[in-house]
Amino acid sequence: MRGSIGSDIRRGLARPPAAPMPGRAGTEVLDASGARVAADLRALLGDDRAVLDSPLDLVRYASDASPYRLVPRVVVVARDTDDVVRLVRWARASGHGLTFRAGGTSLNGQSQSDDVLVDVRRHFTGAEVLEDADGTGVRLRARPGHITARANALLRRHGRKLGPDPASSAAATIGGVVANNASGMTCGVVRNSYYTLESATLVLASGTVVDTGAVDADERLRAAEPGLCAELDAIRRDLRADRTLADRIRAKFSIKNTSGFHLDAFLDEDSNAATLRGLAVGSEGTLAFVADTVWRTVPLGRRRTTALFRFATLHDAAAVVPGLNDAGAEAVEIMDSASLRAAARTAGAPAWVASLDADATDAAILTEVRAEDDAALDAFEAKARAVVGRGEGAGAAGGAPAPGAAIGGDFTRDPAVADGYWAVRSGLLAIIGAARPDGTALITEDVVVPPARLADACGDLEALLVKHGFLGAVNGHASAGNVHFYLYLDASQPDQVATYRAFMTDLVALVVDRYDGSLKGEHGTGRNMAPFIEREWGADAVGFMWRVKRALDPHGILAPGVFLSDDPEVAFRDLKTMPTLGSEFDRCIECGFCEPVCPSRNLTTTPRQRIVLQREMARQGWSGEVEAALVDEYEYAGVNTCAGDSSCAIACPVDIDTGHVMKQIRRDAWSPTAQRVGEGLARRWGVGSAGARVAVGAADVVRRGLGAPGEAALAGVTNAGRALLGEDLVPRWLNAIPGPAPRVPATRATQQTADAVLFAACINRIFGPPPGSGALTVTQALVALAERAGKNLWIPDDLGDDCCATIWQSKGLDAGNRLMAARLVEDLHRWSDGGRLPVVVDAASCTLGVLEEVVPHLDAAHRALHDALTVVDATTWVRREVLPGLGEAARLGTVVVHPTCSMHTLGIADDLRALAAVVADDVVEPVVATCCGTAGDRAMLHPELTETATLEEAAEVAGVDAEAWVSANRTCELGLEHDTGKPYESVVVTLERITRPSRPSPK
Ligand SMILES: Cc1cc2nc3c(=O)[nH]c(=O)nc-3n(C[C@H](O)[C@H](O)[C@H](O)COP(=O)(O)OP(=O)(O)OC[C@H]3O[C@@H](n4cnc5c(N)ncnc54)[C@H](O)[C@@H]3O)c2cc1C
Ligand code: SF4
Ligand code: SF4
Repeated sequence: MRGSIGSDIRRGLARPPAAPMPGRAGTEVLDASGARVAADLRALLGDDRAVLDSPLDLVRYASDASPYRLVPRVVVVARDTDDVVRLVRWARASGHGLTFRAGGTSLNGQSQSDDVLVDVRRHFTGAEVLEDADGTGVRLRARPGHITARANALLRRHGRKLGPDPASSAAATIGGVVANNASGMTCGVVRNSYYTLESATLVLASGTVVDTGAVDADERLRAAEPGLCAELDAIRRDLRADRTLADRIRAKFSIKNTSGFHLDAFLDEDSNAATLRGLAVGSEGTLAFVADTVWRTVPLGRRRTTALFRFATLHDAAAVVPGLNDAGAEAVEIMDSASLRAAARTAGAPAWVASLDADATDAAILTEVRAEDDAALDAFEAKARAVVGRGEGAGAAGGAPAPGAAIGGDFTRDPAVADGYWAVRSGLLAIIGAARPDGTALITEDVVVPPARLADACGDLEALLVKHGFLGAVNGHASAGNVHFYLYLDASQPDQVATYRAFMTDLVALVVDRYDGSLKGEHGTGRNMAPFIEREWGADAVGFMWRVKRALDPHGILAPGVFLSDDPEVAFRDLKTMPTLGSEFDRCIECGFCEPVCPSRNLTTTPRQRIVLQREMARQGWSGEVEAALVDEYEYAGVNTCAGDSSCAIACPVDIDTGHVMKQIRRDAWSPTAQRVGEGLARRWGVGSAGARVAVGAADVVRRGLGAPGEAALAGVTNAGRALLGEDLVPRWLNAIPGPAPRVPATRATQQTADAVLFAACINRIFGPPPGSGALTVTQALVALAERAGKNLWIPDDLGDDCCATIWQSKGLDAGNRLMAARLVEDLHRWSDGGRLPVVVDAASCTLGVLEEVVPHLDAAHRALHDALTVVDATTWVRREVLPGLGEAARLGTVVVHPTCSMHTLGIADDLRALAAVVADDVVEPVVATCCGTAGDRAMLHPELTETATLEEAAEVAGVDAEAWVSANRTCELGLEHDTGKPYESVVVTLERITRPSRPSPK
């Protein structure tokens, strides 16, 4: 690592050179055909940071969740709508193409470009609930880069949600949902964006901005774009005059369809502004940029009833779908036997699913309804049971079910059981994706047939898949006739591409000719179905689509190659090759679900991009100048700025822990000498940690004495050390660093009288409370609370040499990590009297370290010692053991909470929330509270990491009028204080303060 002793990133990434693969990035990423374009764009936007053209940036943006891969010439991170206006005007003048990229979860290549790719997620976040004056409806205004699940989290407080419900909501953005007309299991046709997006602000290819919700939207549009309005009027007139085509358009959109422009907007709307709103839905960035949105929302339905019915055959299962639709089902999902077998080991799967053998023909229907009251659930259950042949009297007295009836299953209102059923359905993509052979990409297909014909269509699709040698597994949103299936493709093998082409040809024929269905129900057309649109819609309809495109984008600058294309090969070109890496990264399906939670997302790279970059190094054959350039940038952008918090692993559907892999690279990058230095520090940690406390104390004296110049001097000293020894080794001085911690308090209890052992983490032995606050440390607060509640907490007096080992583990200093892990476990075993006493840890990240992270570094004997221990986080212990013994206290008004990533990993965030609810009447958890990036000492090594990780959270927190800001890990609290300016402290400290007997009661 540059400027660092004894570390070499090449050692960490070492792979033997191999043959370069097809599909690799060319050397143009080095200098760039894009250099001139980038220079133009920098001049245009006046901000160098908005224009990215380094090899690493071009490659990390090249991949999305689709099986396509195009390397952009330049990436622009647009800052606002004005930027987009400038960009479209520039593109029009220069002839360049602009493609928008938001969450990059698209499955058909529509968020990719080999020209200018525009990131419209980063700076386009924000949402607010708009309550109607008469209180009858709740609407949502959301900017296009806002994550859909976060918008729903906001709406949940009002018992509402958005209509569109893609399974990718945790990563898909509002703009991506509108532009793809994404939908999901309960959305059907009537709740999709076309019907629930009330208005949108659009940037047209000319640069004109239209707010379709403005009262004078039409007049303004006509004044700004008279030619466009005349053509829209003409298209409307011509379409309405063609009754046959108008009827066909109506029929096509009566089922799910995302493979054609929403021409029905011309039938539904007389106003041009409203027509543009409708056309924007599902237009995949080819007609306009969606700059802002206002939504009508739908009821959340706080109660639900769910059933997983078993059928003897797929045909039987499919046959009940229309009846369940009529009964009012909100979701009707179908799974064939191959899908069910794939899900056999899913936690929550009923026993019969696990028992299916290879010849089984069984299928399942998962159905659900949500409502505000039980009566509505009762009514639905009765109707649905009758539909599936399990109504009253059916199969009574042990009689056999009627032919075609369900052979098992019933409704449950137990959320845990229902979640298990949904896990079977929702987990399929991940299971099938993770099981794909090395070197293949996953392709998800998404066709629609009229629901009444679903039974036959499922059989036909299974047969077609088997004919071409693909996995014969089909499942999908049966209520809408929407069927998904999966293909594995090694695009480096021409014979596999030929098979894929043959399959697609047969598929199009089947869906269009036999069922008059939709080639894409919800995933958008992209490049994948572009050559087949005319086959599906006919020449007349496609002629109208081209008229719309030419009217709105006469120069073809928006998303060239996407949706409407003259190129019959576009579906079979630029297919993504998938080199193997020999690590857990090989499971990655590049879905992007891990991106929104990653603390380095706004600074350097995301987990997906870290994987995508390694894949490109492999495509390059682990050698050559492109690979060298990527490795060089990867050191900081991939490895050093990974917080190692593993939030990505929680979000990942195939359980990839990118942080773990980055830490392995750090480990392998160190020289043996550096490892020995790390080991030496672990050996003498008592001296080291005491020295750190002394250093913090000395720094505090300097700061108090000199004020701001003192802070600057401290930063100067640490910066000099960083320059000499490495930025990944020497921490930087942060203004939020408090004074030194007071000595660990003595406790009255002894090991013999104790109820629990308190392991005071070294961060709490080094860093004190916020300067001048007079607050206790969390260790002191725990002791005080325990006494108050009549609990005996004992702190051993020989803690000094021990640490949870996270410092070594996160840096990959393996020898030191092993030494510290072994010592810690021995000491905890001794202190806890062989495991008799529970061990309470007073910092959440250290609890994770002690409970889980040390384990892989222990030998068998130490693992046995570890197995005997009971380790709990302080928040959990206080909630369980202390709260019942505390009296009533006057609570605060509002408290803001920040659950740490380690709490999410441990599944104990609710303990923090519960304590927060005890200290304050109103608990506000920011919707965008991701890992703060502090990760032990990483905030001090790379403060820019936590500063960018908490940008959105800081903005949200700034708007809350709170009396306290609480978390459960001292270094995270310091990082958050540094970034938000709010005095974060442990919730345990706040609890101690409000329950202190001497506290005056508020007037
Ligand atoms: C595992 C997985 C599961 C999925 N499940 C579903 C599902 O259940 N239902 C479903 O419908 N889809 C699903 N998808 C597909 C995808 O997630 C959705 O289509 C999603 O809405 C795309 O949103 P995004 O933010 O990722 O957009 P992107 O992929 O970045 O972009 C989508 C399209 O919108 C355009 N675009 C983006 N922002 C704007 C803007 N502001 N203005 C104009 N154009 C814009 C892009 O150019 C592109 O054409 C799934 C994908 C994955 C990987
Ligand atoms: S690491 Fe997991 S979540 Fe991230 S892109 Fe890969 S598969 Fe998706
Ligand atoms: S460990 Fe954290 S910083 Fe590293 S890739 Fe995962 S989420 Fe991002």
